[in-house]
Amino acid sequence: MQTIPLFIDNQPVNGSGKQFDNYNPATGEITHVVTGASQEDFEKAVQAAKKGFQVWSAMSPTERGRILHQASGLLRAKNEELALLETQDVGKPIKESIAVDVISGADCLEYYAGLAPSLHGEHYELGGDFAYTKREPLGICAGIGAWNYPIQIACWKAAPALACGNVMIFKPAELTPLTAYKLAEVFKEAGMPDGVFNVVQGDAEVGQMMTAHPDIAKVSITGEVGTGKKVMAASANTLKHVTLELGGKSPIIIFEDADLDEAVYGAMLGNFYTQGEICSNGTRVYVHESIKEQFIERLIEKTKALKIGDPADSETQIGALINQTHFEKVMSYIKLGKEQGAELHYGGNQVKVPGCEGGYFVEPTIFVSHKEEERIVKEEIFGPVMTILTFQEEEEVIRRANDTPFGLAAGVYTNDMRRAHRTVANLQAGMCWINTYNINPVEIPFGGNKQSGIGRENGLAAIEHYSQRKTVYVAMKDLGNPF
Ligand code: NAD
Repeated sequence: MQTIPLFIDNQPVNGSGKQFDNYNPATGEITHVVTGASQEDFEKAVQAAKKGFQVWSAMSPTERGRILHQASGLLRAKNEELALLETQDVGKPIKESIAVDVISGADCLEYYAGLAPSLHGEHYELGGDFAYTKREPLGICAGIGAWNYPIQIACWKAAPALACGNVMIFKPAELTPLTAYKLAEVFKEAGMPDGVFNVVQGDAEVGQMMTAHPDIAKVSITGEVGTGKKVMAASANTLKHVTLELGGKSPIIIFEDADLDEAVYGAMLGNFYTQGEICSNGTRVYVHESIKEQFIERLIEKTKALKIGDPADSETQIGALINQTHFEKVMSYIKLGKEQGAELHYGGNQVKVPGCEGGYFVEPTIFVSHKEEERIVKEEIFGPVMTILTFQEEEEVIRRANDTPFGLAAGVYTNDMRRAHRTVANLQAGMCWINTYNINPVEIPFGGNKQSGIGRENGLAAIEHYSQRKTVYVAMKDLGNPF
């Protein structure tokens, strides 16, 4: 059995903390043994990162960009190998991991590689005297990942952090430890100096080492709202910067004049991609009363055609849920939906996939609900479970769409340009789409409002979250004695 070590100071290191097994969600088989970090290992990572910071932050931004660019090219060259590993780790279809997971990580490295040399401060004329600002790195940043997009999450955190001259200690989710380690190897191969990108393995306990450590300047976490609150509270003790990328229960609003096929595709993409394990999914689909029947009919017809199967098969469109606990959670919500009176229009069952009997497969599931207060309408399920609700008026649907503590994303389908922008202006969400859904290129900022998060990843916006300004006032004339 292959062991997954930590990666500290550009070297694999066997962790001396808790050991744990890594499973393939499609088969339930153990694929690797992971050595978790102890407090002592974590200290080693911090010391390595401190030394790494001296070297990395002193390099020119162009040199840093060159290494990030090199790493991006290596990721692209290793796409197939890494995508297969991601599929084995997460259970998502290989078709997806080849098209999105590694490539979106490479895009992110490439984007910030290009940006690094252009990051700069500002100059202020003050009538003789002047001032300038320097954009400085924060220091050692901790990245904490969720299990649904492991390598993408690692890149979305590492790329802007490193471009700004910070160093990083990254902890992948304990359920998906494989590709963060591979990313560290790629960085090393690209010429990254020792100690700049370190990986520690483990669960919440290791995460807590990160939030507690006085030498960590910033924590960026992707995870559940409850975890985000704990991270923010723990980080407050040493007043760390935080970026919180958390969960959601996002609305998709489909007006009566929408292109029906496009709306159906958007709703499917926003509910069934990665078997529904996506934070920004539009799991509350508000359809105008007048088109409800056609929408549901078309949606079911297309959903029926989805191929559930072995994630390693290139034809598969719906893979396995991450583990048994999560599978049970998703199935319990489906049961709850039925009990609380939602109409089950499609799916709702476990699927047994030949050759993957130990896997956790669930049919794409479509409910129609008449009660906004049902738990399947209110709570994040994080599985392939869509709930359709109907509405009549624009104002009414906006009020209902906003009636949630979450504020991650929202979608609007209409061909009325003014209505599209008016609706989006009134929606409480960090990421909105008009006539599409869940498209997140690296150029645009991504993140949540309300309890879905704080801060932004991607785009120029992320630079603000990985750097700090130093203002320098320069006197060109004597002050003289003011007293
Ligand atoms: P999780 O909150 O259980 O765990 C996330 C990470 O936090 C893991 O690495 C875990 O080990 C660590 N952790 C847990 N407790 C901690 C603590 N007290 N201190 C420090 N670290 C701690 O989330 P998950 O189950 O891995 O991922 C699913 C969740 O992530 C969903 O809610 C989903 O919506 C969200 N998510 C959000 C985004 C986004 O960009 N907004 C993207 C992907 C996933």
